[in-house]
Amino acid sequence: MKLDVALIHAPSVYDFRERIVYASIISEVVPSLYVFDMMPYGFLTLASYLEKRGYKVGTFNLASKMLRDQKFDVRGFIRKIEADIYGIDLHWLVHAHGATEIAKIVKELHPDSRVVLGGLSATYFWHYIMRNYEYIDAIFLGDSAELPLLKFLERGPEEAPNVVWRDGDRIRNNGISWIPEVLDDFIVDHSYMIRNFLRNRDLEVSIPFCSFMEAPIAGVVTVKGCPFDCITCGGSRTAYKSFFSRRELGLKSPEAIAREVEGIAKLSTMPIFFIGDLRIGSRIEKLSSLLSRMNLENELIFEFFSPPSRRDLELLRKTSHSVYLQISPESPVEEVRWAFGRPYDNYSLEEMIRNVDELEFTRLDLYFMMGLPKQPLDHYYLVYEYFKRVRSISDRVDAFVSPLAPFIDPGSRVFESPSTFGYKLLFNSFEEHRRALTAYHWKYSLNYETDWMTRHDIVEASLKAYELLNKAKLEEGLIQEEGYELAKRRILLDRKVLKFVDSGMDINKLREAIEELSIKLDIKVKESLSLYPTKSLAQSIRNPLIRRLASTLIG
Ligand code: SF4
Repeated sequence: MKLDVALIHAPSVYDFRERIVYASIISEVVPSLYVFDMMPYGFLTLASYLEKRGYKVGTFNLASKMLRDQKFDVRGFIRKIEADIYGIDLHWLVHAHGATEIAKIVKELHPDSRVVLGGLSATYFWHYIMRNYEYIDAIFLGDSAELPLLKFLERGPEEAPNVVWRDGDRIRNNGISWIPEVLDDFIVDHSYMIRNFLRNRDLEVSIPFCSFMEAPIAGVVTVKGCPFDCITCGGSRTAYKSFFSRRELGLKSPEAIAREVEGIAKLSTMPIFFIGDLRIGSRIEKLSSLLSRMNLENELIFEFFSPPSRRDLELLRKTSHSVYLQISPESPVEEVRWAFGRPYDNYSLEEMIRNVDELEFTRLDLYFMMGLPKQPLDHYYLVYEYFKRVRSISDRVDAFVSPLAPFIDPGSRVFESPSTFGYKLLFNSFEEHRRALTAYHWKYSLNYETDWMTRHDIVEASLKAYELLNKAKLEEGLIQEEGYELAKRRILLDRKVLKFVDSGMDINKLREAIEELSIKLDIKVKESLSLYPTKSLAQSIRNPLIRRLASTLIG
């Protein structure tokens, strides 16, 4: 079938199957595996928006398919997709290699169609990309592409806002002028995912991320922009204002959020994650009343950027039979947390934990990070200690730790002015980031070090913190022996790979072990550490026919 738009998600490194790239724990706290196979939610909003207006849109998760099927022929597959426009996401810079390589292949195979990029990183580096990658015809700028893509389809690039495009030898920039502040027109029609799957006739290329079959989760975007200014974040207030022209937040109303949730709940019982702190725009009260009337079977997960009041927690507790919460203190040390841009103390965090316990939330997840300002190597131990401490307040607390990796985001305050914050950027061009992604070990992908830690220290601190935290989780009965052993194997291999790389030994000797731990066992580690509530896709789908189909395909 000929499509109007084919949206393609690339792996972080295009030819990762031929290379040896060991990214170990860097994707630990997101559903993606090490090639960042999770499609952006924007694909689903774009597809829903355009299909409602009569256009045919396909989404193709090449990253997921390539992870699942080692023999998958990427070129052969792309050759068969026929579309007028091929859109490739370059939102996080971690896709700098994969997105541009896939764009090159698409242009080679479909020279008469238009190849376009979109996302925050593509926006930040638009000038360099348009000058150096002649196979990219246009870049959609800013954080929203629904209306611009519609205008592009209807009237061509001349009349589409937010677009930089190639006009013969000239590069023309229409500027960012469409910045929606109300997101209610951009809710995801989740039945699109089923239509897309039936059209593609391939589950592995249609799912939002590789481990979606084992552990599906749906997301609802509730906000664009952020009132906070965490210093390394490319989605912070300063970054949005300076590079993406967003001065006001874009908000989805409680009614629109509830409609989106209803759409998900009709199709499946999978957990639903609300992206963005719902206190922004004071939406908790209304949303709580709308959701609590739905009697949802789905587990709900809410995130907070700072500890919420007891009243807000009471309201959220009513939204489902099982509610999970997340917050990222980043460090147990208040000085480090403040320096990073999260202005709250341990007292208020622990108050939240007590409330969570009393109100019987299913779980509260705390996220910690290594590579922060004012954080020396020996802080790795504090994560373990603090986790033990908060577990004595409530056994509903879980915790996760990861390195700040691989990149400090372009557009963030640290990226623009590293020394002000005690950081040193080791490289900053698009090309250097692209190259860094192909390093054998993730240490050499890191684009920074700090006044308190070298790159080597950041690796060490992250591995030690991860190892100790897993030990604590085993002791607390949060993970089983098998999961703990798998995580340990991963750390061992991480250290071994680094030793091989640092001493110039032949890394090929480790290829088999890396392949085993990176894909097959990575899914298992994720399952056993249970990042979020998990039941398989086959168990979550309501429609018996699709459920049967999914079970057969999953095996
Ligand atoms: S990391 Fe900080 S600045 Fe970035 S989106 Fe989260 S709260 Fe906002």
